[in-house]
Amino acid sequence: MAEKTIFKKIIDGEIPADLVYEDEQAIAFRDVNPQAPTHILIIPRKEIASIDDLTPEDEPLMGHLFLVAQKIAKQENLTDGYRTVINCGEGAGQTVFHLHVHLLGGRGLTWPPG
Ligand code: 5GP
Repeated sequence: MAEKTIFKKIIDGEIPADLVYEDEQAIAFRDVNPQAPTHILIIPRKEIASIDDLTPEDEPLMGHLFLVAQKIAKQENLTDGYRTVINCGEGAGQTVFHLHVHLLGGRGLTWPPG
């Protein structure tokens, strides 16, 4: 069997994480190397490596992840705006191959990103 990703180990409770949200479909926790005062990762419990691996059945799940982002943004009081990012593939900076939405806020965010 393939080696579990670090995020699957977090889902399975094998390594600790600073959880901020969880439900039947998703969990969210603080990034260990935050790039903004609020930097949270929202991940599906289902193992999907990247956007490239999505199938039509994942459509409602992806919508759910963004509603979770909205909920957490309110929880974190990100009233001045926030950014969601999904890196897809090594060339785009993806390092953990379990799909995740970055939620960044709490500081000004410039465009374009690096
Ligand atoms: P990616 O580069 O794949 O889009 O994002 C992976 C993110 O996961 C990075 O921002 C990295 O800091 C974070 N990360 C990697 N390992 C861990 C970990 O063990 N715990 C937590 N909380 N975040 C992690």
